[in-house]
Amino acid sequence: MLPSPNTKARRITRALSMSNPFATLCQSMFLFLLLPTAALATSEPAPIDIEMLLKQVSEHVYYAQVMAGIATDNKGFISNAAAIVTHYHADHIYGLQVFEDLDAEIIAPGGFQDYLDSPAADERLEERRFSLSPWVNEDTRLVRPDRVIVEQTEMSLGGVTLDIRYLRPAHSDGDLAVLVRPDQVLISGDIIFEGRIPFTGSANTGRWLEALESLDQVGVEALIPGHGPAEREPAEAVHSTLEYLRYTRGVMAEAVDEMTPFAEAYEAADWWRFERLPAFAATHRRNAYGIYLSLEQEIFGE
Ligand SMILES: [Zn+2]
Repeated sequence: MLPSPNTKARRITRALSMSNPFATLCQSMFLFLLLPTAALATSEPAPIDIEMLLKQVSEHVYYAQVMAGIATDNKGFISNAAAIVTHYHADHIYGLQVFEDLDAEIIAPGGFQDYLDSPAADERLEERRFSLSPWVNEDTRLVRPDRVIVEQTEMSLGGVTLDIRYLRPAHSDGDLAVLVRPDQVLISGDIIFEGRIPFTGSANTGRWLEALESLDQVGVEALIPGHGPAEREPAEAVHSTLEYLRYTRGVMAEAVDEMTPFAEAYEAADWWRFERLPAFAATHRRNAYGIYLSLEQEIFGE
């Protein structure tokens, strides 16, 4: 007999909280309904004392919500855990080796190779084995997907239909959002950050804004963002990331247009609306600088 979803959920929670590789995979967006339930036991678990609850959002969708901090906060548990990879950023892919070892098909957006084949991927992993030790360790390895999505794709798994939306390079070098159709639950990846300052890194914020503006939320019952709690009002979650990107991009675009040096423009700008959000101190100035540089390229070319 197949285990019930609740039994699966309990087993996955146990695996997430006890085993070392599963601890790291919690940083990725995995759809629990896709998870195999066998062979969850692994050896030499690293102790974890953070709260990480598996929450049921709808009939087929569970997610492990963790604290929305910056990359090295909370022992690295900062992103919501789905074996479709929404995008290839370190905090969303560490732990994939567990799925590969279980012969699970790993599905990811086109553009993943831009990150995976760059020196930054190896350098980041090396650094995280230090800064997130022992949860990221020698067993943690970079895993390539078995299937790459580059267009709108419909997939049926275990009788559940998924609409996989390819969002092109936006937040990262390639992004996906997944709609669990029968439940109308949208898993957005890092296109949406809830309750903290988004991480924009080397994002194409122009395309990111387009992706958010074109995100069809009609009929969506719940949204699970890349970071932060599930949201029953998707429009609100979309709005807060949208507002952050629009405003920061607007301020920086004006600075670039007027050839104001970054530091001067940053100091002169009014950031009060974002100052109280978690990760502001650690993230916002760097985001603004990255956006300033990318706008220089957009406006003045290479
Ligand atoms: Zn990301």
